[in-house]
Amino acid sequence: YCAGEPENLVNDACVSYATLERLNAELRPSVQYLTQNVDFFTYYRLDLYGRECPFWSDDEGFCGNRACAVDVADEKDIPESWRSSELGKLEGPKASQPTSSVKKGEPSPFRGGLGEETAESCIFEPNDLDKRDYCVLEDEFNVKNSVYVSLVDNPERFTGYAGKSANNVWRAVYQENCFDAQPKSQSSSPLQAFGGAAVPLKNVMDRRKHEVVGQNLIAPPPEEQCLEKRVFYRVISGMHASISMHLCYDFLNQTTGEWGPNLQCYKDRLHAYPDRIQNMYFNYAILLRAVAKLRNNLKSYTFCSGDKRTDTLTRKRIAALTDGIASHPQVFDESIMFKDENAILLKEDFRNRFRNVSRLMDCVGCDKCRLWGKIQTAGYGTALKVLFEYDENAQNGENQTLRRTELVALVNTLGRLSNSLYAFTRFSAMIEQERMIE
Ligand code: FAD
Repeated sequence: YCAGEPENLVNDACVSYATLERLNAELRPSVQYLTQNVDFFTYYRLDLYGRECPFWSDDEGFCGNRACAVDVADEKDIPESWRSSELGKLEGPKASQPTSSVKKGEPSPFRGGLGEETAESCIFEPNDLDKRDYCVLEDEFNVKNSVYVSLVDNPERFTGYAGKSANNVWRAVYQENCFDAQPKSQSSSPLQAFGGAAVPLKNVMDRRKHEVVGQNLIAPPPEEQCLEKRVFYRVISGMHASISMHLCYDFLNQTTGEWGPNLQCYKDRLHAYPDRIQNMYFNYAILLRAVAKLRNNLKSYTFCSGDKRTDTLTRKRIAALTDGIASHPQVFDESIMFKDENAILLKEDFRNRFRNVSRLMDCVGCDKCRLWGKIQTAGYGTALKVLFEYDENAQNGENQTLRRTELVALVNTLGRLSNSLYAFTRFSAMIEQERMIE
């Protein structure tokens, strides 16, 4: 039931490049509208400044460029129900308990009596990691230190953040891919699983020195490696490729002061590495599948704007996207993963490693890069959770309700990939044009 066209299939996905490009052309307006115009998806709440890098101290990694700065939103521009003062009232039991949702007509079990428009998705949860989470969530949990950011006013683009600090983060992110042949119940991550003591980066680097191969920081797992390990690598490499694509497509020409595509940047970082482009397409397939899988779930989702009409419009807009994806054959088949005898341990290892990747975002020394790094790791983490922990056919209430932060990150990460595929076609056209002139 895959959208398989035998020609040019993206490895490990069941779809061709051409099909994904056609899908992107069709779905892009809908994704663009959601991420540029719908309040629910354009504001993200996170603790951007309050968390130290849990793995090493890097006082020199700070990026002071104007382009690295983030403009924080004024709370008065945010719908009332999302403001800190209101979020304080929303502290409640874990959303993973289906019975905790506020049913129509029932008295609210939460402080402050929030009325029938409030549901699990609006509830602020304490800083607890659900065992099914694939990332450490930037959530409403830290109301005091959290800020709202308009994602429209702070686009992901070239910032000038580079050098040792950026390289250290990428290196540590790729280290997470070094699974043991036999997964242990305790994560064998070089940074150790969430909750474990962090290992200083120096030790991590020393262990990995001999493994740096060719042009990539860490060689991709060989094709005979199990599918799950290859998928993990593809997800991080595809995320890295998408970030590179954005910074090359929205680059600052320091001579003219103008922003625009930088073809040389693209050639150096992406054109010469088809595997990176392939991984970016792979991620687009994964994200499409995860969003499509939420189709039924989102029909009854509460969008918490405090205004019924706005919530209805948001629901219609997201339904247009999920229905649009679902009208095509499936592009990724997650059911073939985590099947063998080690499946439970392997999944736990996979999940712990992805959580570490999300925690590494606190080590990014540039605010703007950290913001988008956090959104995208949360977006992939949410996609992985939906793929591997959600039952598509379950009745409402049987799946864990996604938190606002998760859904916003998921849709914006799909938006990032959609833009990356678009930028890729633009850069390819520029290269073709160059070739014709020569
Ligand atoms: P890097 O991109 O730093 O890559 C380091 C090494 O990784 C390369 O030499 C190569 O060996 C390997 N590699 C590169 N791409 C891939 C891939 N796709 N798959 C596998 N291996 C690969 N800069 C901005 O201008 N804007 C941003 O928004 C931004 N966001 C960032 C977010 C994060 C989380 C991080 C860690 C950095 C971010 N940066 C951003 C910095 C940017 O990603 C680069 O690190 C920086 O531009 C320096 O690039 P580089 O040429 O040294 O290679």
